[in-house]
Amino acid sequence: MGGRGAGCGGGARARSRAGAGGGGARGGGRGGAGRARAAVGVDLGTTNSGVAWVEPATGSPRALGGGAVPSAVSFGGEGRAVVGAGARGAGARGLEGTAFSSVKRLLGRLPKELDNRIFDLVPYEINDEDAGAEVQLVLGERRLAPEAVSAEVLKELKRRAEADLGEEVTSAVIAVPARFGAPQKAATRRAFELAGLSVLRVIAEPAAAALAYGFGREEQEVVCVVDLGGGTLDVSVLQVGGGVCEVLSSGGDDFLGGDDYDACIVDWVLRRLGEGPGTRAQLDPAALHRLQEAAEAAKNRLSTAPVAALDLPGLLPAAGADLKSCVSFRGELGRAEFQNMTRPLTDRVKSCILEVTADVRDAQGEPVTLQEMGVVLVGGGTQMPAVRDLVWEVFGREPPAGEGVDPSEAVALGAALGAAVIEGTVQRTEAVLLDETPDVEDLNVLANKLLELLGDELPDEA
Ligand code: ADP
Ligand code: MG
Repeated sequence: MGGRGAGCGGGARARSRAGAGGGGARGGGRGGAGRARAAVGVDLGTTNSGVAWVEPATGSPRALGGGAVPSAVSFGGEGRAVVGAGARGAGARGLEGTAFSSVKRLLGRLPKELDNRIFDLVPYEINDEDAGAEVQLVLGERRLAPEAVSAEVLKELKRRAEADLGEEVTSAVIAVPARFGAPQKAATRRAFELAGLSVLRVIAEPAAAALAYGFGREEQEVVCVVDLGGGTLDVSVLQVGGGVCEVLSSGGDDFLGGDDYDACIVDWVLRRLGEGPGTRAQLDPAALHRLQEAAEAAKNRLSTAPVAALDLPGLLPAAGADLKSCVSFRGELGRAEFQNMTRPLTDRVKSCILEVTADVRDAQGEPVTLQEMGVVLVGGGTQMPAVRDLVWEVFGREPPAGEGVDPSEAVALGAALGAAVIEGTVQRTEAVLLDETPDVEDLNVLANKLLELLGDELPDEA
């Protein structure tokens, strides 16, 4: 935990010209003969992925294609890719193929960079034989680059976005974790290219989220972005404003997320079944998958309801495979009990936030206290009341209501805002127009291009 000090600026900053915001449509990048082309924002997540787009008429971003798609891919007959909920646990349900999940963890990684915990986490084989080459996914005799599998998720997002918009989607601003290094970004870019999407810009996920929540519109603000996803926690303190974004502090835990909360419920069910530690081994993969799905649903339900029911008929096969004597589970889990059994996880989230926010200094070297920081909650896991409570505890005030932004969609919405600014669909000054690429020359070219795009539409005075 901690110590992952990647900056969204890599020390370099690109500035957009400050000026009045507003949503006047300009039509740049969407015109031309034939079918209109749209630029979108994409969140290629470890667990879920989403795509969003800015409505030119309103200047507001919205999620496209019916919301998030699980970042899971399986390959059915003749290599046809199945993406999303249908692919999750494909092997476990006796369907053909392996379910490739959490592929983002493997993008652009050399064998020596893999944490051993990944091998227990994923239900497929990883080829890491060649120490000098990026790892691959094993599908029977085939070896697949992680980006080729991620590209299938992106193709699905593109397809859904196009169906929703009735326009061709050809380019995207993409968001990547603040800690992604050059090889991870390069692999992510390749995934987009394979999916037929040209990359307009790579921005940091926390910066995108801060944008979606409206930070950085006016003067400089310091904001703490807490992103609790399916398997990872990312905490970043950013200084945003005037088209500039700088990461003041960042850290996280690569093995802490909603999945760990689900696992506590799975263990609780197994304990209640009274079968002892051997039970998990007795469950066949399909039963375990059903149990995991039920646990996740119960956890999500407990974010808004005080009690969640779990009903799992025929979970364990009985001796002699007599169907009638199968062991079933039926029970209710209360929020308080859930919060108690997951307290160690929530405590880890808390210490991580405290660690990253301790001794933060702004770009001018002045200390920033917790009370002075804005807070942004991102990722499905931040919908849990226990996480919201701890944010209250740490920052001394009520967690943000969200301004109508769904924390699961914030990253895609912010990336969409970036795409709209670059395409000239809307003019907004709060866009954190910063590529993470540490290549300063690149940054300047992009900054100039942006100024050019924005310049004639903006008042001269900043
Ligand atoms: P990632 O960034 O890892 O792709 P997300 O931000 O989509 O993922 O977060 C996924 C996690 O959020 C999953 O563990 C999912 O179960 C959890 N989640 C989604 N909705 C809720 C909810 N209402 N309450 C609690 N957890 C939720
Ligand atoms: Mg995410």
